Amino acid sequence: MSADANSMGRQATAAPFAIELKGISKSFGPVQANKDINIAVPRGTIHGIIGENGAGKSTLMSILYGFYKADSGQIFVGGTLTPIPDSQSAIRAGIGMVFQHFKLVQNFTVLENIVLGAEDGALLNTSLTKARKVLKDLAQEYELDVDPDALIEDLSVGHQQRVEILKALYRQADILILDEPTGVLTPAEADHLFRILRGLRDQGKTIILITHKLREIMETTDNVSVMRRGTMVATVKTAETSPEALAELMVGRKVLLEVEKQAPRPGPVVLSVENLRVRDEHGVDRLRGISFEIRAGEILGIAGVAGNGQSELLAALGGMMKASGKVTLKGQDLPLSGAGADGQSRREAGVAHVPEDRHHHGLILDFAAWENVAFGYHNDPKYQKSALFMDNDALRADTEKKMATFDVRPPIPSLAAKNFSGGNQQKIVVAREMEQNPDLLLIGQPTRGVDIGAIEFIHKQIVALRDAGKAILLVSVELDEIMSLSDRIAVMFDGQIMGLRSPESTNERELGLLMAGMTGKTTGEAA
Ligand code: ADP
Ligand code: MG
Repeated sequence: MSADANSMGRQATAAPFAIELKGISKSFGPVQANKDINIAVPRGTIHGIIGENGAGKSTLMSILYGFYKADSGQIFVGGTLTPIPDSQSAIRAGIGMVFQHFKLVQNFTVLENIVLGAEDGALLNTSLTKARKVLKDLAQEYELDVDPDALIEDLSVGHQQRVEILKALYRQADILILDEPTGVLTPAEADHLFRILRGLRDQGKTIILITHKLREIMETTDNVSVMRRGTMVATVKTAETSPEALAELMVGRKVLLEVEKQAPRPGPVVLSVENLRVRDEHGVDRLRGISFEIRAGEILGIAGVAGNGQSELLAALGGMMKASGKVTLKGQDLPLSGAGADGQSRREAGVAHVPEDRHHHGLILDFAAWENVAFGYHNDPKYQKSALFMDNDALRADTEKKMATFDVRPPIPSLAAKNFSGGNQQKIVVAREMEQNPDLLLIGQPTRGVDIGAIEFIHKQIVALRDAGKAILLVSVELDEIMSLSDRIAVMFDGQIMGLRSPESTNERELGLLMAGMTGKTTGEAA
């Protein structure tokens, strides 16, 4: 825990609360996203809100920022009852939202973006001059340096986020809301963001930080509120809780946060990749000569900030994207273009694939769970009744069995895929792919949008498959997940592998540097 998280003393004198929400309820049709929520955020603190996917965190913040109207309940700002029917009212009340999907105008400069919408009538030039000065002061005060004349489109994601923060501060926000702000950042950028947030707090600002990452809560917040299924289950002082206690509050039962696994016992090479290259339809090189091997009984984790070629790597190996180079599976060539370079052929060759984007590639949402279980495997003799017809009864029975093994809820094979929660959809895809007994499993973002309880389960399955002697290629933007599951780690940046490490001999800092494209020393070793 960082030294300056120890700032609990400040709260005792910090009345009234910056924000108080009383009895907030909100339904979307049959879904009650917020149920009688009460929360009080002391002024000058960083207040975390944590909860699983769908717990209702974003809904609550959208109500506070005037995007949604609550069905009932009251908002108090600085002790005063303050209705917030729209975001202008929120800004007037001193509330700023740092958007996750930045709302900046790409071909405008930083300065123009900051002034946009806040300019003093027609006096845009006065406003720009004034803004330049304010910006300079803010940048100095809070480590928020960005070049005011840079175009947004030329800035890294981390810098664009700083512009969003500056924009809120320029509008004199006293209370800043950040909803899952680190999903798109490298670890170094995330550290910088948290330094900025602590600086803002120390100047008296109030920060509401929404995240599902326990580590960020523990390192950054003064207090934390936990939401579960639309209700507020607890608010505690961060210094008086633990990741385990928070996880239990989030899920409603004890959860194993650490992945339990034995040392790997690697066998012969299963997958060999040499000089793999992918050029996309715009002629941009997405993979620029990648080489590695994965052995039986081994998990190779690919770390990296999203968009550095990991998706193309999975797609090329999964037969979903044309590539060049040489790839063999147990010594047999896998075609990278033309005949045999398709998902179906790959499955027949022994490659299972849990794609990153299960909505577009893993599932047909309108089809029943049992139909999705056959998806990609309909040629399998065990599902074949005759040359033309599938054995639907066998499939349904098989699905029921898989649903039981993978604890899919509800365990109803006839339910359409879209009616399962994200975590259960993922379990359906994972069950289908793992139960094929593949030689190689390609698995992308296995726990994105998945509840903590289901994460625990999916991680166990991945390790079990490894221990059954399979080769596993794991792609994840969650460094914790990479660190805890992988037997070896490859870091990708700009279509290349920047280095291979073992989890014991590296740390998040070193991986973070590699993720940002920096190599201190050359790594040599390629397998
Ligand atoms: P969180 O941010 O904690 O993941 P959300 O507040 O986004 O949760 O969602 C809470 C619940 O409300 C979920 O079941 C979600 O599907 C539902 N929900 C959120 N926004 C809408 C909307 N605009 N329309 C319908 N349902 C919604
Ligand atoms: Mg959310």
